[in-house]
Amino acid sequence: MRLPNLWREIPQRYRLEGVTCKNCNSSFFPPRIVCPNCGSKELSSQRLPDRGKVLSYTIIRKPPNNFEGYAPYPVALIELLDGVKVTCQLTDCDTDEIFIGMPVEATLRKVKEDGEDGVVYYAIKFRPLIRKTIE
Ligand SMILES: [Zn+2]
Repeated sequence: MRLPNLWREIPQRYRLEGVTCKNCNSSFFPPRIVCPNCGSKELSSQRLPDRGKVLSYTIIRKPPNNFEGYAPYPVALIELLDGVKVTCQLTDCDTDEIFIGMPVEATLRKVKEDGEDGVVYYAIKFRPLIRKTIE
């Protein structure tokens, strides 16, 4: 039964939600239980900005099981407007259009459909920012 798992993951999958350490003020995505920076367990959830820029990226040509049909696809390290770094799939762009520093924004996209129980999985992906500047 994986519905409880699915529901528990919804905040960070459907909104860009990370955690901020109350001790050292560092922010992380995906959320952690222990702060990787100072070891504190005093973390609070935090809504992250949905825009940022590409710091680096790679093209996945040999994807994990069940994602074969989606390859090749780009995965990028993205720095959000508040400096938090996230690793996320890019969408809505050709792989040769991607560049370091490209402004991107979060969007909700279908990840995969489960053949047996018909569950459709969604997750946040990033796409090129329509407006070409970050304010
Ligand atoms: Zn900390």
